[in-house]
Amino acid sequence: MCDRKQRLKSNLEQVQQRIAAAAEASGRAPGDVTLVAVTKYVDADITRELVEVGAHALGENRPQTFWPKAEALADLDIQWHQIGHLQRNKLRRTLPYLSLLHSVDSVRLMDAVDRIQEELDPDHPMPFLLEVNISGDEAKHGLKPDDVAAAIEAAAARKHARLRGLMCMAGYGTTPDEARRDFAALRELRDQLQARYPAQELAELSMGMSGDFEQAIAEGATLVRVGSLLFEGIQQ
Ligand SMILES: *Cc1c(COP(=O)(O)O)cnc(C)c1O
Repeated sequence: MCDRKQRLKSNLEQVQQRIAAAAEASGRAPGDVTLVAVTKYVDADITRELVEVGAHALGENRPQTFWPKAEALADLDIQWHQIGHLQRNKLRRTLPYLSLLHSVDSVRLMDAVDRIQEELDPDHPMPFLLEVNISGDEAKHGLKPDDVAAAIEAAAARKHARLRGLMCMAGYGTTPDEARRDFAALRELRDQLQARYPAQELAELSMGMSGDFEQAIAEGATLVRVGSLLFEGIQQ
């Protein structure tokens, strides 16, 4: 195995071990937390090596780089996650690749997903998360916490877009401890809304990145989105 691939393998193993340790420390099973390896920083060749050493859930955020990469890697076993803001005019080309769309930040976008998925693949509803701007940063995408209930009610009527939970990013420039407060707030919001809407599935919590995924796991993350840590020491 070449040096680069060896390094990817050891980076991945370290992140997986830290995920398992964080899960166990909060009384959860390591299998309850899925690592979404964020490959937006690297090209298709490096992404291929990362898959070959064991990453299968991959996250991307820019459709223009994601599309050619997904085509180049179509022979591999990959579950693609769209983690960044997606414009409605990119949905038709993006949805066919996705296992989970993390970043639905308006009812308008949810309705467009529902309509387009009905055309593309009426037998398979598109799983998605509602992105919540939990920190209240003006520059961030996401629903205001007060608007999430209305979005859940709207989701209940959509047949081709299936709500699975909530997603957030911690505030800009937060320390891991401050991030933990944001993650706790998202979990509490989820718990309240799950009690209010028992027929809706809100099991997934997508939160935590390279700098704060352990805090997110302590607060109940089921999906952590880790990029930079996986590519430490990798020359492009
Ligand atoms: C880039 C990105 C990540 C990964 O961040 P790292 O700090 O590199 O781990 C996670 N989530 C979203 C939405 C991103 O855009």
